Amino acid sequence: MENILDILRTVAIVFGAYYVLLLFATAVWTYRDIRSRTQDITAQVLAVALVLVLQLPGLVLYLLMRPKQTLAEKYERALEEEYLRRDIEDDHVCPNCQRGTDADFIVCPYCLTELRRRCNTCERTVDLTWQLCPYCGSTASMGTAGAQTIQMPDVARAKVYS
Ligand SMILES: [Zn+2]
Ligand SMILES: [Zn+2]
Repeated sequence: MENILDILRTVAIVFGAYYVLLLFATAVWTYRDIRSRTQDITAQVLAVALVLVLQLPGLVLYLLMRPKQTLAEKYERALEEEYLRRDIEDDHVCPNCQRGTDADFIVCPYCLTELRRRCNTCERTVDLTWQLCPYCGSTASMGTAGAQTIQMPDVARAKVYS
């Protein structure tokens, strides 16, 4: 009889230890999982407490309630959206080499194609096809798309002739 009790006690201790270990591992897993999903300390503590107190049902609850995306996924998604948004907005493409340029570039920095011109009078960037400068009304530099009238910015000129 003593022997059977001893065996039962040992089995209970082994299972108890196993269960505590499992619970601890689950809590650690929950902590790492919630930390990859939110930086909110309160949410992190609550998630681990939920699992430790309610144990298996707590874990199920946590899995149901945890934020859908990890922070890395969220960051990636935001980056993707930013790229998409920029793609839609960015219709400033060099007609020659198709590379992206800025709205106020005068010359394509890659292939040196003239993109816009600078008004002779007010120095503002104007479209090549405009009949006059919309900023100052000057027609001085307009309508003559010959290469001689191209006004390269100093930086581009320095690049071409150096
Ligand atoms: Zn180009
Ligand atoms: Zn002007």
